[in-house]
Amino acid sequence: MNSPEWAVVAEGLRKQYGDTVALDGLDLKVPKGTVCGLLGPNGAGKTTAVRILSTLLRVSGGQAKVAGFDVVRQGADVRRNIGLVGQSAAVDEILSGRQNLVMFGRLYHLTPKASARRADELLAQFGLADTGSKPVSQYSGGMRRRLDLAAGLILAPAVLFLDEPTTGLDPRGRNEIWASVRALVATGTTVLLTTQYLEEADQLADRISVIDHGRVIASGTPDELKTAIGGDRIELVLHSAADLGRATQVVEHTVGEPVTTDEDGRRLSAPVRERVLALTEVVRALDDAGILAEDIGLRRPTLDEVFLRLTGDREHQKAA
Ligand code: ATP
Repeated sequence: MNSPEWAVVAEGLRKQYGDTVALDGLDLKVPKGTVCGLLGPNGAGKTTAVRILSTLLRVSGGQAKVAGFDVVRQGADVRRNIGLVGQSAAVDEILSGRQNLVMFGRLYHLTPKASARRADELLAQFGLADTGSKPVSQYSGGMRRRLDLAAGLILAPAVLFLDEPTTGLDPRGRNEIWASVRALVATGTTVLLTTQYLEEADQLADRISVIDHGRVIASGTPDELKTAIGGDRIELVLHSAADLGRATQVVEHTVGEPVTTDEDGRRLSAPVRERVLALTEVVRALDDAGILAEDIGLRRPTLDEVFLRLTGDREHQKAA
């Protein structure tokens, strides 16, 4: 629990609202200087977990440390070491980006001089130096969100809680935020990211914890999750639809799994266990059988598929 390499450690966190169990023994460990993605369907307990870890909410059971401090007994120390960037912007529309950051610096009790210096540093860090003197009302969505991020970083926190940082942004705005988060992590900040975009977790998170019904049901790197869930497939496109029958036999015989075929009669796909071995063997078997393939490759499941596989039950339970 006290190990210095962890920025966040939560053990058996429980939270109950009346009869509703929001957290049911949640465990989480986030190494320093990494991004941990917290994923889960609506109502899984993500917000509750973040609110407990940022000391905004009292825990019903279990324990947690953030930046080395106990969230219950050392709340003030935790708050001094964290930043919290939520979805709703706290910035003032009429003020310029720079004025907003200076104001936040003053709210955090920095001197006027230190506030100004920190504002300029942050504007430069988030690519807002040129637009820093414009009123926020003239900012694009992406610029605004970067300003939100900057405002959460006035005190250079060791741990940043980022709640759905790119909701509502277009792809360009999203890319801008991702670049900013990556730059931030490169300076050593630890980020706990909640997001409903799986691609965002795939892009940013070193490790992902999938939460459902108030507990972690799977965790690992995006790649580990994809591998653990399996679902790798070999896909091939035949040169001629006339070979479909024979190709199906050859592939089924080689990988030992049933083949599915596409409507146009030239595409086949089959699940594989040993990815690369299967690819080599299928290529060789097709070659031996004199069957020409135009395209052949392996496809990993997307994180969406992993997520659905892990949490899909919920929809069925609701429907039942
Ligand atoms: P979302 O993705 O929708 O934000 P979430 O994963 O953040 O969901 P939480 O907001 O943590 O989930 O909610 C977890 C559970 O606790 C849900 O069943 C929710 O209805 C319940 N809950 C959350 N806040 C309260 C509250 N103040 N009073 C009663 N129940 C609550």
